[in-house]
Amino acid sequence: VKIAVLKETAPREKRVALVPAVADKLAKLGAELYLQSGAGLAVKLADAAYKNVTFAANPQGLVSDADIVLAVQPPPLDVIDAMKEGSILISFIYAHKETALTAKLRDRKITCFAMELVPRITRAQAMDALSSQAALAGYYGALTGATSIARMMPMTTFATGSIRPGTVLVMGVGVAGLSAIATARRIGAKVEGYDVRPEVKEQVESLGAKFIDTGVDARGTGGYARELTAEEKEKIAAVVTKHIQAADIIITTAAIPGRPSPKLISKAQVDGMKAGAVIIDLAAEGGGNTEYTQPGETIQVGQVTIVAPLNVPSLLGEHASELYSKNQYNLIELFVKDKAINIDWTDEVLAKTCLTHGGEIKNEMAKKAVE
Ligand code: NAD
Repeated sequence: VKIAVLKETAPREKRVALVPAVADKLAKLGAELYLQSGAGLAVKLADAAYKNVTFAANPQGLVSDADIVLAVQPPPLDVIDAMKEGSILISFIYAHKETALTAKLRDRKITCFAMELVPRITRAQAMDALSSQAALAGYYGALTGATSIARMMPMTTFATGSIRPGTVLVMGVGVAGLSAIATARRIGAKVEGYDVRPEVKEQVESLGAKFIDTGVDARGTGGYARELTAEEKEKIAAVVTKHIQAADIIITTAAIPGRPSPKLISKAQVDGMKAGAVIIDLAAEGGGNTEYTQPGETIQVGQVTIVAPLNVPSLLGEHASELYSKNQYNLIELFVKDKAINIDWTDEVLAKTCLTHGGEIKNEMAKKAVE
């Protein structure tokens, strides 16, 4: 089985889909590995760091003979054109944004496993790259908050007197939010969490934070949230506004699959925040969770700072690559056995992760977006 790994070319992308430790494991599975030269440089891995690997400079040449192609970001269209019909691509795709790419994967009869489609079930946790990358992002968000503010977080006693702990509010408590809460707790902040899925209350409390109960339940399908009605938004604002006003640091992570990021914080709510407070908006990729957010920028609104970094996992690229590469390995292990590819389509993880196969778009949401 020939596996080819692309060098990432998207701006700000600092990850690589294969790290040396996983290359060794794939070699043990019997794979022949081909890596685009310099693919690891983004995380300071020179080609020489990889053993059992053949290098090629040209991405089209690299993939033309491969059975499986690995990437982090959706690959360029001309790379898909160079792939063998019936070969396999494993990467983040985001079909709702990448409709031309998805149509091409279908037309070229590529079997594409889209990493964002890995089902959020217990058995798939080891392949769940959305979770591994979000956990890193939450950590980064909490620390960026702590270092973007001219205050300390832990309650500290000095000879001159003591400092009260800082207050961190985490809005949207999925994987990234829980990681932000855990990190903010570790540095001694008083932490509050808020989400529209009431079942997270227990998880927030188990991390030693307080759950803000708004009485709204907006559970959607598959463990995700749905969009809110105007009435629900008002009900939430009535409860949440005073917590926004009391916070030193707010970390927002709210997302709804396939939709722009919900606006959790209005302009008026930002204007009412404490002087010197900061918002770390981890939902910038989808447009951001505040009405002021400018994705990729750090802005000053009155006395409040809003930081909205893009591609946050890349900012922790070494660990992000390590975890992502392991996620991909665990998926590959499901269908590469005895040096051959054998996809069991009755396996829920493989069936649900499949975006395109045999000239068809297999994911319903993606199909609607493309056709
Ligand atoms: P996500 O990135 O889609 O969204 C982040 C959070 O924002 C979610 O908790 C969501 O409820 C929340 N949100 C959306 N709109 C909001 C609003 N208007 N106000 C406040 N919060 C809002 O979520 P995720 O981190 O990818 O997690 C999605 C789900 O998958 C969760 O239920 C999570 O527990 C579950 N999950 C399960 C597993 C597993 O069992 N293997 C693994 C990972 C995640």
